[in-house]
Amino acid sequence: MAAVTALNEGLFTYLKPADVAKLGEAYRFSEAAHAGQTRQSGEPYISHPLAVTEILAGWHMDSQALMAALLHDVMEDTSVTKDEISDTFGKPVAELVDGLSKLDRIEFQSAEDAQAENFRKMLLAMARDVRVILIKLADRLHNMRTLGAVSPAKRRRVARETREIYAPIANRLGLNNLYQELEELAFAHLYPLRHRVLAKATRSARGNRREVIGKTQEAIKAKLVDASIEAAVNGREKHIYSTYKKMLEKHLTFSEVHDIYGFRVIVKDGIPSCYLALGALHGLYKPVPGKFKDYIAIPKANGYQSLHTTLIGPFGTPVELQIRTEQMHRIAEAGVASHWMYKDEAATLSDLQKKTHQWLQSLLEIQNQSGDSAEFLEHIKVDLFPDEVYVFTPKGRILSLPRGATAVDLAYAVHTDIGNRCVAAKVNSELVPLRTELRNGDRVEIITAGHAKPSPGWLQFVRTGKARSNIRHFLKTMQYDESAALGERLLEQAMRSLGVTLAQIDDQNWDRAVRDSGARTRQEVLADIGLGKQLPAVMARRLLRFREASKDEGKAIAKPIGSVVIRGTEGMAVQLASCCRPIPGDEIVGSIKKGQGLVVHAADCHQIERSRKNEPDTWIEVDWDPATSKLFQAAIQVTVTNQRGVLAKVASEIADAGSNIDSITMDEDRSLYTTMLFVIEVANRQHFARVVRSLRRLPDVVKLARMRE
Ligand code: MN
Repeated sequence: MAAVTALNEGLFTYLKPADVAKLGEAYRFSEAAHAGQTRQSGEPYISHPLAVTEILAGWHMDSQALMAALLHDVMEDTSVTKDEISDTFGKPVAELVDGLSKLDRIEFQSAEDAQAENFRKMLLAMARDVRVILIKLADRLHNMRTLGAVSPAKRRRVARETREIYAPIANRLGLNNLYQELEELAFAHLYPLRHRVLAKATRSARGNRREVIGKTQEAIKAKLVDASIEAAVNGREKHIYSTYKKMLEKHLTFSEVHDIYGFRVIVKDGIPSCYLALGALHGLYKPVPGKFKDYIAIPKANGYQSLHTTLIGPFGTPVELQIRTEQMHRIAEAGVASHWMYKDEAATLSDLQKKTHQWLQSLLEIQNQSGDSAEFLEHIKVDLFPDEVYVFTPKGRILSLPRGATAVDLAYAVHTDIGNRCVAAKVNSELVPLRTELRNGDRVEIITAGHAKPSPGWLQFVRTGKARSNIRHFLKTMQYDESAALGERLLEQAMRSLGVTLAQIDDQNWDRAVRDSGARTRQEVLADIGLGKQLPAVMARRLLRFREASKDEGKAIAKPIGSVVIRGTEGMAVQLASCCRPIPGDEIVGSIKKGQGLVVHAADCHQIERSRKNEPDTWIEVDWDPATSKLFQAAIQVTVTNQRGVLAKVASEIADAGSNIDSITMDEDRSLYTTMLFVIEVANRQHFARVVRSLRRLPDVVKLARMRE
């Protein structure tokens, strides 16, 4: 088992023997795949995946992650496929390797303007499986450690990318040791001269101050013993790059930065001991006012917790203290990787991943709110997945959609039924129109209703093929019957106005008329009428022509039926005009338009006055089916006194009256009054009146009007 020996078994004692054996298999597989390849340094290529795996073993990563690390370059650099990996090592390992290969293909663009959006995308890519990014970071760490072998141009590019992208991500994930090392290596390769000078100065400064530091450390330890607090006290190494950054940012000289001593106090007991230690040490040396920070009560975004304080030391030099528990210390050092390093036996991986997802999400939220995210993001110039947006479902599932995708696309991505029945969407808890474009990190909730159906209007804004084809399919097939039923009613009316009823047409006449109109079935003809592809009057005359030709019955004159009854649920076949938004209880008229079906307007709609006069033939009488149970959109304009919280009051009053709000438009007027336009859902006029009555009770409301164009 030469392979397992090469893997340095001592590192893997935390794994089961069976898993170690599998690692050996992965090692041999990778070695064979990379056979003949060498690194720039001349070493066999396998030395690289092996080193990456050992870094990850140091974090106690699970065996799947370690196998993926051994195999991480085989898809990119050899002819091995994802299927082969899946067959030999299982699907989870293959997914990890595939994820890594995809990350490899991303070219990071260093642009001047860093965008919070871009960083968020990277976070979201990680949120799917944080192990991918941990393997990637270990890969990068080893490449940085061995960067001396590559050409100067490549060295600078890789070092810059590391400083701008990978180090900040390691920081964000709380992998502090990794973060420090990446920054340090990047600095050494980007500014070799500065690094050398500072390294030398640091070494000599350490020598000169050793005595003072030792005395201070002893004094701190003694004080803690006095106070009966069990704790370890360590001096803190000043990293070269962090010294350099401080010099630049705070305009300090090297000795001004280095004349600050840093100590870390790690208490044995819990959180109360941290505060006790703080009190004791504030008694030892005077604290510098305004320097105390409580990251225990308010942890940093990456989960970091500690008390920070600065004291005036024995020789007047500042002493920086970090006080924390052992658990806080582990998280401070290893961040998200501490989930693996110190996991309880019982905790399953999926559980950990769930926690990590939640953690990444909370991180996103904090990033949105905190002011210093901009400062952090200044250094991030990622442009991952430029064509995709990532959004969250209410359950925290992450979905990727093409850029420009809307709430309807998301609804269809979740499930066809959700798409077909969606009526509204909430983005980050706010109601938005279905056509709203989604942005990275949006949390989107789709609101469905049992009776709802896709609207042909959606085809104008959906982006995904899935949504488009589903809407088309629905409109074509599912509404066919409704269209045919409406077509029959329209045809009946047209027939009666010619003095005949449909019942008087026999099958033979029907068949001939169907053939003559180019359709295959009677149902198809009726659906065409319902959908506005054929005009009912034309079909009625055609049927009568054949009836006349066959000259059977006598002349029983039929009375015209009054009006066509609509329910509003006919979908594409019946459209409610958006200019006047008629609701049950309104007097309505219908216009049959070729290609549009029946368009229903309020009888008093201003938009139709001219057409009713000039083209009376296209207008028919329509009535509401009293049994309709649909909700209809109506617009209401509400003018209120301009006060904080008034929108919430109005919205909750509308909701209390049993109505949904579909959209809200507000004018930006900052004067005494604000006018808001609500599109709400009501069952009928009585319901609308109820909403108006409720709103009128609000003292802030000065004017209410139903809106029509
Ligand atoms: Mn690699």
